[in-house]
Amino acid sequence: MLPALSKQRPGRYHLPLPSMKALELTDASAFELVDRPVPEPGPDDLLIAVKACGICGSDIHGMDGSSGRRIPPIIMGHEASGVVAQCGADVTDWGEGDRATFDSTIYCGVCDYCRSGHVNLCENREVLGVSTPDFSRPGAFAEYVVVPARICHRVPDAVPFEEAAFAEPVSVALHAVNRVDIQSGDCAVVVGAGLIGLLVIQALKRECCDNIIAIDLADDRLELALELGASNALRSDREDLLDEIRRLTYGQGADVVMEVVGVSPTVQIAIEAARKGGRVCLVGNLAPNIDFPLQSVVTRELDVVGSCAINGEYPEALEAIAAGEINVRALTSRVAPLSEGASWFARLHDGREPLLKVILQPD
Ligand SMILES: [Zn+2]
Ligand SMILES: [Zn+2]
Repeated sequence: MLPALSKQRPGRYHLPLPSMKALELTDASAFELVDRPVPEPGPDDLLIAVKACGICGSDIHGMDGSSGRRIPPIIMGHEASGVVAQCGADVTDWGEGDRATFDSTIYCGVCDYCRSGHVNLCENREVLGVSTPDFSRPGAFAEYVVVPARICHRVPDAVPFEEAAFAEPVSVALHAVNRVDIQSGDCAVVVGAGLIGLLVIQALKRECCDNIIAIDLADDRLELALELGASNALRSDREDLLDEIRRLTYGQGADVVMEVVGVSPTVQIAIEAARKGGRVCLVGNLAPNIDFPLQSVVTRELDVVGSCAINGEYPEALEAIAAGEINVRALTSRVAPLSEGASWFARLHDGREPLLKVILQPD
């Protein structure tokens, strides 16, 4: 709890703030629950008391230092929700106690891309809970986090904090599906039924795709894909995979393919699964470079697009969660206290258990 002073003098806080607990990545794959000063909001910022924060695949891949985007020491965490604890001096449209979630991208709001409505491509883009040689931005695996008010969104009362923490990955899935302009009745293939893939399947269903084929190596994920809206589920290691996809798409291939892994073999499946003139959306980007089936794309005139982060999908994501159109409960493996975070990161990194989303809550 913050001292009562913040109520009397909102945004003009000069006494030393109390400290907070934070889960810090202190070294490659090493975590410590540390005491840190509660960060002070700037004039346009909100101080959010974090109520829930999801562990993202990019945190798990990045924690060993290999991605170059989680350079320790850093407090990670960019899928969060909470309550406004203090408003910056110039913030007028938020009040203490408001329920909020926020974009993972901190966009500047003034560059050409931001002004032309492409905030995900902001020239001065920073990402919450990420540190690179260019920037370091403390994230939400902590009791408090500071974020600019312009990236915040109100959470409807009907959406619990653990579900609101999904607004970020749900928005990522909605943005990817928005990139391919779904027509009612399109048939779609989704390569990769991990967390984002399972959200993409639900987003496609919401756009009235009536034939959605999920592809993955893990049987438990394929089962979940079927429960959440896929019409068929195929293991990616079966030899007749492409024949089977063609059989399920009237001999043509899919109108739309969503690739949600990002390595050579899965991108190749995605390209070959598309019909002539079809659309392929590349969402996954595990590998920086891949073997790309160039001739297959050119000679069959495919539209291949990339999808990065989120561009205004938050309100829609929160509505879809509130309406139950996107089921995030089914994807929640565990809600655990922040103090247990280190062991959950280790279990997720280890990958031997069938875990999807783990949500951490400050104790
Ligand atoms: Zn993420
Ligand atoms: Zn910008």
